[in-house]
Amino acid sequence: MKFLSTRNSNLKISAREAIVRGISHDGGLFVPESFPKFDISENLNLKYTDLAHKILSLYLTDFDSHELLKIIEESYASFEDEIAKVAYKKDFYLELYHGRTSAFKDFALCLLPNLLSYAKKSLGIKDKTLILTATSGDTGKAALEGFYNTENIDILVLYPTEGVSAIQKKQMTSTDSLNSKVIAIDGNFDDAQAAVKKIFNDEDIKEKLKEKNIYLSSANSINIGRLLPQIVYYFYVYADLVREEKISCGHKISFCVPTGNFGDILAGYYAKKMGLPVEKLIIASNSNNVLTDFFKTGTYDANRELKKTISPSMDILVSSNLERLIYHKSSDELVKEKMKELAEKHIFEFKDDFSEFLCGYASEEETKSTIEKTFREDNYLIDPHTAVAKNIVDKLGLKNTVILSTASPYKFSSSVLSALGENISQDEFENIDELYKISGVKIPSEIKKLRDKKIIHKTKINKDEIENEVLEFAKRPKRISVPATSANLGPGFDSLGLALNLYNTSEFKISDDIENFKDNLKNNLIYKAYAHTFEVYKEKIVPVEFKLESKIPMSRGLGSSATCVVIGIMAAFDVMNRSLDKKEILKIATDLEGHPDNVSPAIFGGATASLLDDDKVFVEKFKISDKIKFLALVPDFKLSTELARKALPDSYSKKDFVFNISHLSLLILSLISGDKENIKIALKDKIHEPYRFKEIPEIDEIEKIIDESPAIAQYLSGSGSTIMILLDKRDKDSEKFIKNKLEELNGKYLLLPLEVDSRGAFII
Ligand SMILES: *Cc1c(COP(=O)(O)O)cnc(C)c1O
Repeated sequence: MKFLSTRNSNLKISAREAIVRGISHDGGLFVPESFPKFDISENLNLKYTDLAHKILSLYLTDFDSHELLKIIEESYASFEDEIAKVAYKKDFYLELYHGRTSAFKDFALCLLPNLLSYAKKSLGIKDKTLILTATSGDTGKAALEGFYNTENIDILVLYPTEGVSAIQKKQMTSTDSLNSKVIAIDGNFDDAQAAVKKIFNDEDIKEKLKEKNIYLSSANSINIGRLLPQIVYYFYVYADLVREEKISCGHKISFCVPTGNFGDILAGYYAKKMGLPVEKLIIASNSNNVLTDFFKTGTYDANRELKKTISPSMDILVSSNLERLIYHKSSDELVKEKMKELAEKHIFEFKDDFSEFLCGYASEEETKSTIEKTFREDNYLIDPHTAVAKNIVDKLGLKNTVILSTASPYKFSSSVLSALGENISQDEFENIDELYKISGVKIPSEIKKLRDKKIIHKTKINKDEIENEVLEFAKRPKRISVPATSANLGPGFDSLGLALNLYNTSEFKISDDIENFKDNLKNNLIYKAYAHTFEVYKEKIVPVEFKLESKIPMSRGLGSSATCVVIGIMAAFDVMNRSLDKKEILKIATDLEGHPDNVSPAIFGGATASLLDDDKVFVEKFKISDKIKFLALVPDFKLSTELARKALPDSYSKKDFVFNISHLSLLILSLISGDKENIKIALKDKIHEPYRFKEIPEIDEIEKIIDESPAIAQYLSGSGSTIMILLDKRDKDSEKFIKNKLEELNGKYLLLPLEVDSRGAFII
């Protein structure tokens, strides 16, 4: 399958190239050269990810099929519960908001970054990509999550100070990834969008970025990699309707889509072109009803004021994806002409047969009363965007229509509450609680967590400061992030280890302060590891400066020294311009640490078994079951590694030896399967814990507390003093229980809820 530009159909490029480029040089958007057929009647029982694989394979023909499936499965693992859920009410609602950021944008934006990374890697592109995105609320956060700490891709999001909802704003400004910056820009969405477009057309800035091997790209729905994943759910909901016996296979069905940039509904048009039995596609607008006017009159007139509504993600006057539809209905020449008129006069005329579409728009009052009516009559809670669509369905008197439900009502709690006639609070989180009380609808877990998140991004600028922000962002130093590790794991003495989602992160840059560098070389582990790596490769050392931001408690058996060693080595690799071969890094790190059990998981992530034989390191990574999470109980005192080693005997009985190897084998397998009963037994150890636990005061009381809680089991992390507790993922009680009980003891303890980090060390 080739992709063409809407403004030059002679330009034919592969899917990978189209995804990397985002937009064509001629200003056009990429479209597939043809629509492959897909017969849903033969694919009615596929699960979402398999269906996505089948459909996307028809377009992404230059992706390795096996890799594509892996990418799809990993991307959609971020969804809570079901990926696409269908609610059968008076109408059929396709709930598209169970992804990480609670809006339908997640469907494409969890996948696009991984498609882009794969495309760049397989095409051998090493340049950095800077994603520059203007958002009316939902795209921004979905893109920030999708590109979370993606190597070699940075993301800068601009949102308008006026217009985004309180939750959308908090979602964006609390993003803690190392590759992101979120900026508020004075004005509305059109101002933010215009500022971004200006940068894209600024040759001077592009040249300055190019000197640093940085290229601009966009996460807005002009990228074909955002459009294609959205085709899948049209087929999916159709199959679900057939399975639920709401329709018989082959029966035509209509879809009503709340529309802004025309991306979502265009995916429906593509599904129809591929053979999905579609009756009508219904374009639902809010009071920014440019599209409705266009489909009714043939005139696209953007000469009007953008109105601020309670459905802000549709507050758009220039719907980029309409260009694709016009191309499919006409030719590249005509598109060029119309888009020129739009750019110059903000208006154009285009008439064609649009009989597959219907359209309508809802006023603010209609949107609110639809929320209220749907809740009262159907006991179903919808957000303002979905309400716009529902209102059009009612006004057109349509039955058996699928309404695309694009956002969780909790993202717009105050608007929804006031539509229901309730009082609203200044504190949006109180509105969320109130909405829960009234509706009983589950609050998405990411929105729940948002309450306690710190605001990280506070920059607010006006339009003409954006260039400077982009250049400053591009200039910032690189950073290395390395996860905490927990070694030994019961019987896995000196062999097992796992990485946890708590990180030491260090900035580094070349420095000309030689004296300071020399001082640091004497007593700082990061600098020592850095220098050692230069020695290993017999290269001349380059002075650098590190700035460590440490989150991992020191000398508590959580691998903080291993992180320093890894940071130093990786920085050296980067400065020497060596490719980051993780096995090479492990060799040097093991050399410095003396043993591989902490550095292995720190470098590779996940759980590892590793050993040193004849001075060579051997390592295998394995995946701990998703059913398990961790709780680190960190005492306020250290146990010296040396003392902890001395506490151990020189020899063990055969009985103890057999005890440990049998428990170790069961432990590895049960950590993989997640069998709690087996894990509890298998974590017992006779080599080090009986001797080392003695060094911890109050250990008997602590063990008793853990025993009484619903926790699975515990082990001594590294050589202590942290005690690592394993919990069932759904266990909500243990942490509180243990915390309360610990308060009755004399010692001071910190409790850190943690999960496995599967990625390991990385540079951004
Ligand atoms: C983006 C968005 C829309 C509009 O989708 P388009 O693809 O831009 O037409 C509708 N509802 C919500 C909640 C959105 O975030």
